[in-house]
Amino acid sequence: KPMIELKNVTKVYDNGTVGLKNINLTINKGDFVVVVGLSGAGKSTLLRAINRLHDVSEGDILIDGESITNARGKNLRLIRRNIGMIFQSFNLVKRSSVLRNVLTGRVAYYPSWKSTFNLFSKEDKQKAYEALQRVDMANKVYARADELSGGQQQRVAIARVLAQNPKIILADEPTASLDPKTSRRVMQDLKMLNEELGMTVIANLHSVELAREFGKRVIGVRAGEVVYDGLMEETSQEV
Ligand code: ADP
Ligand code: ADP
Repeated sequence: KPMIELKNVTKVYDNGTVGLKNINLTINKGDFVVVVGLSGAGKSTLLRAINRLHDVSEGDILIDGESITNARGKNLRLIRRNIGMIFQSFNLVKRSSVLRNVLTGRVAYYPSWKSTFNLFSKEDKQKAYEALQRVDMANKVYARADELSGGQQQRVAIARVLAQNPKIILADEPTASLDPKTSRRVMQDLKMLNEELGMTVIANLHSVELAREFGKRVIGVRAGEVVYDGLMEETSQEV
């Protein structure tokens, strides 16, 4: 069942740079997709289009069968609630506790909810705690985010997304600032969300090694175009 569909999607930035060129892509529910390509190939442009962090110039994007291309306001919020983002730079609130970071991530997608920390419900806190348990960070609930290593911060960011309970997770170079061992750990956590919770995952990577190890399906992007789509074993080093 298609979870994400791109139909003839082109993105031209205001300065004329072509970010995506006539992309056609279907990603099914439960897929674990790795997008590879050199810096500047269009990987981030693709993820930002799927989350509607920016508009595309032409074409249509459907999430779970529904077009997001012209979604506004409440509809857009509902769509985004089902999409969790993970970034290279973790994007945690550095001076806040681990638990608060996970809780506020959850609340960001439920804007009508009470946003004062002390008013978080017991259920919210329990969900946040369980999410941290899943990524083995429950022993750090009260640590400040900036006291953690990079790998630990990224796992907190994964817990934050997990507590949001999205259908889709978009990870934009989640391991780019981490060492190889920590990178594998982060990818294993993403794989766990995919395999145990059925979340559809798209991860941009520029490490071909990690792509080979974790991508069930690998999409190669070059100059805004899909140049490869299939199993990693069949592809060359030079995607
Ligand atoms: P990747 O994620 O694969 O490194 P990007 O999607 O960031 O690639 O970039 C694709 C192309 O779009 C590059 O040529 C890049 O310079 C350009 N680009 C990205 N963001 C912008 C922007 N905000 N304005 C203009 N050009 C951009
Ligand atoms: P409150 O603000 O309600 O007093 P705390 O800030 O002490 O609660 O803890 C927040 C929530 O995190 C708890 O309600 C619980 O769900 C969860 N939690 C924190 N630490 C633990 C733990 N060691 N075991 C189980 N749950 C925990």
